[in-house]
Amino acid sequence: MKINLECKNPDCDRFEKIKKIDSANSFCGSCGQKLVHCCKRCHKPLDDVTVDMCDECKEERKNQTAQENIMEALAACYDKCLNGIPKVSPSVEKMANDYLKKYKDKDKACKAMLNSQIVKCTTSGFLTGFGGLITLPVSVPANIGSVKCE
Ligand SMILES: [Zn+2]
Ligand SMILES: [Zn+2]
Repeated sequence: MKINLECKNPDCDRFEKIKKIDSANSFCGSCGQKLVHCCKRCHKPLDDVTVDMCDECKEERKNQTAQENIMEALAACYDKCLNGIPKVSPSVEKMANDYLKKYKDKDKACKAMLNSQIVKCTTSGFLTGFGGLITLPVSVPANIGSVKCE
């Protein structure tokens, strides 16, 4: 297994340049200093050579991915709110039409529907077609308000 090693000599031209090497006992080809196994994200030295990221970075990445999944699901949800889900949720189209009638403005209708339906979207079978996304956290990030109606 290759591990991330980098030179920790700040004067070296290979300072914090990650090299993937099989052996933990490697030396910098430029300054000769022993290479250190580090987190590939924040360059913090790591004791465990079987991991390539520190715990903090792993946690951060996890949160980031969760956030991306939410936005993806919202986009999908948004799309389905507009277009309906054939054979799965025929009422969505009717619902969308109701909102369109109510607001007359497509953009406003989208936002109003999204705001009121988002909890349903994430908790009911509304996202049936999206498999694992059903397990989304119910708390919706604040930036959902920024979803734009195309
Ligand atoms: Zn070096
Ligand atoms: Zn890190």
